[in-house]
Amino acid sequence: MDYNYHTHTHRCSHASGTEEEYVKRAVENGIKYMGFSDHVPLRFSDGTESGYRVPVSDAKEYCREIKALAEKYKDKIDIKVGFEMEYYPEYFDKTIESVVEYGAEYLILGQHYTAPENIVVNQTISETDSVEDLCKYTSLVVSAMKTGVYTYVAHPDIFNFTGDVSLYKDEMRKICVASRELNVPLEINFLGIRDNRIYPKDLFWQIAGEEKSPVVFGFDAHDALNAFDGDSLKKAKALVEKYGLNYIGKPDLVLPEKNKRR
Ligand SMILES: [Zn+2]
Ligand SMILES: [Zn+2]
Repeated sequence: MDYNYHTHTHRCSHASGTEEEYVKRAVENGIKYMGFSDHVPLRFSDGTESGYRVPVSDAKEYCREIKALAEKYKDKIDIKVGFEMEYYPEYFDKTIESVVEYGAEYLILGQHYTAPENIVVNQTISETDSVEDLCKYTSLVVSAMKTGVYTYVAHPDIFNFTGDVSLYKDEMRKICVASRELNVPLEINFLGIRDNRIYPKDLFWQIAGEEKSPVVFGFDAHDALNAFDGDSLKKAKALVEKYGLNYIGKPDLVLPEKNKRR
């Protein structure tokens, strides 16, 4: 594995270390393509900001700093700056406009909530048997893929549904089919492996294997050590083998633009 486009920074306030420490760790372990994808800034319509993201006031500096590092290390590694971003239809156009202005070079989808988190407090990783929420999640992820701005879907299997299994499979199949048809890869998330989270979820990857959806890996580093994570890499490769996944390696980056549709 010589790429990783899922990296956070101290600016989201739940990650540690300097960006340069992450870069050094990646270079030392043979990473040739690296992307920072911290949580996208978002100011809600009520004027408040969410606490787990890069603050709006830091966004330009975040991009500027990563681009300076990219220049400094350009002979050793190709570094890009982007964001991990939910798909909230009501904020989408404005957010895209902002990330383009900040200078972002790619986006990955991370659907941590089914509605802006100033309205909905339940994360998609929290257990639920709500069919309505499950369908909302699927519909948001598929709509996000159709916008054409996301390079890939981070932890597509984050939704923690405890209800009817056949319904869950039908919904996840919609994501896997859209991924194949729209050519938007699905990420096996290494933070999930490291932390023993509900993802990677076997049932999901079984379906992704059946549908031949394109698959990529992401370290989801929140500290410098995990800017390379060899232990999780072994487990992810085993998952690829087990379900005959269509692992594509380094994804092609999609430059965020306004009014883009696949
Ligand atoms: Zn995430
Ligand atoms: Zn992440």
